[in-house]
Amino acid sequence: MPKYTSISTLQADLRAGKITCTELVTYYLNQIAQHKNLNAYVEVFAEEALAQAARTDQMLKENPERVGSLFGVVVSIKDVLAYKDHKVSAASKILEGYTSLFSATAVERIVAEGAIIIGRTNCDQFGMGSTNENSVYGPTRNALDPERVPGGSSGGAAVSVQADTCLVALGTDTGGSVRQPAAFCGIVGMKPSYGRISRHGLLAYASSFDQVGILANSVEDVALTLEVMAGSDAYDSTSSTTAVPKYIKQLSFGRKAKICYFSTAINHPSLSPDIKAQTENLFDRLRKDGHEVQALDFDLLEYIIPAYYVLTTAEASSNLSRYDGIRFGYRSDDATNLMETYKKSRTEGFSTEVKRRIMLGTFVLSAGFYDAYYSKAQKVRRLIREKTLDIFREYDFILMPAAPSVAWKVGEMSDDPVAMYLADIYTVQANMAGIPAINIPLGKGKDDMPVGIQVMAGIFKENELLAFSKLLCGIL
Ligand code: GLN
Repeated sequence: MPKYTSISTLQADLRAGKITCTELVTYYLNQIAQHKNLNAYVEVFAEEALAQAARTDQMLKENPERVGSLFGVVVSIKDVLAYKDHKVSAASKILEGYTSLFSATAVERIVAEGAIIIGRTNCDQFGMGSTNENSVYGPTRNALDPERVPGGSSGGAAVSVQADTCLVALGTDTGGSVRQPAAFCGIVGMKPSYGRISRHGLLAYASSFDQVGILANSVEDVALTLEVMAGSDAYDSTSSTTAVPKYIKQLSFGRKAKICYFSTAINHPSLSPDIKAQTENLFDRLRKDGHEVQALDFDLLEYIIPAYYVLTTAEASSNLSRYDGIRFGYRSDDATNLMETYKKSRTEGFSTEVKRRIMLGTFVLSAGFYDAYYSKAQKVRRLIREKTLDIFREYDFILMPAAPSVAWKVGEMSDDPVAMYLADIYTVQANMAGIPAINIPLGKGKDDMPVGIQVMAGIFKENELLAFSKLLCGIL
């Protein structure tokens, strides 16, 4: 079986009868079994995926004009997206045994267009982390070097595509969780504008930052999957009613772009020299091709991480209060009264990192500290958002690395949460401002590990972002 890296090639082969959907799913199931050591999946829906494949094969024979736009596309979903009658756990013990009563809108929409869900992928617990080591199922490993992490929190999602166990993966991105693992694994990963895809059925971490994102081999596949999932949804009042363009039809970028980058970002001491050099090479290359690439001073860069961790932990402390040992999943066995049930279930059910964030978030929201931390961080967010949006009045895109280094070794970051937080420096701005951003593989860096370039665009400019990304892929 050839490695499929594009939906359109796959669908052409399926229509031409070169392969069947059943063969395809069988191949992917085999791949999953062969890569079990990577720990990318927490559950595989083998029987169901095969049954759906058989239905697709039959439909292709009997009613080929009736298949949906994602027919035959095998997709993995991150373990924070609800899929009716399937378990979902946010990689946490606290949701042990819990089964979804409904499907996330994003999942429902791709299934309605013929996608085949092959399983749910490992991640950092409730999306909190950058390495995928903070999971009750153990760490996911990078397929290019199993001694290294795949990034996080959508680490399993990234590896599921990287190791050729599915064609497309759905992840979520609150502060970089789609783009950074895509960069560490050498694939494409996009977070759309806030509100572009419904969050209904996404287990909330920080609701004003969370977005569903897409990981795939190509910009085209991201574009098509986005087109299917995007759009307003009565179940999510923050989903936007802005019309969804036909992204897939607008993928040619026919003009010269006006691009900026931040000198503060490119000269940041945490940025590894090989990534800096590759990023600067790309700028030169773009200039040679006639695009305008200018340096800007963005003096708010150092405030992004502190403000993000105050605001997201505050939102998390509130969102995660629903896991009380009574309503969902895990309940401690040795509690003898209500208060003990709450305390013991939460103490035993959440990981150390999740508890750290719940406590920090509760602290910044508490009387006496609210103004000093939470209100202040809200103001910082407002400034960052306004300054970012101002930049897009003049420039089409902001370019910056997706991460300051290549993938870390497993265990390298576990003892130093603050070092891990600081490594989110390049991805968090897009979530703070609600803008779309994408990782495109840029090349190989230290130890031959992948390096990514991140492109950000103005709110709801996904069409331009995708078209320019395709152009970038063409020159890289
Ligand atoms: N690494 C960031 C965090 O730990 C981002 C996570 C995410 O986007 N879900 O919060």
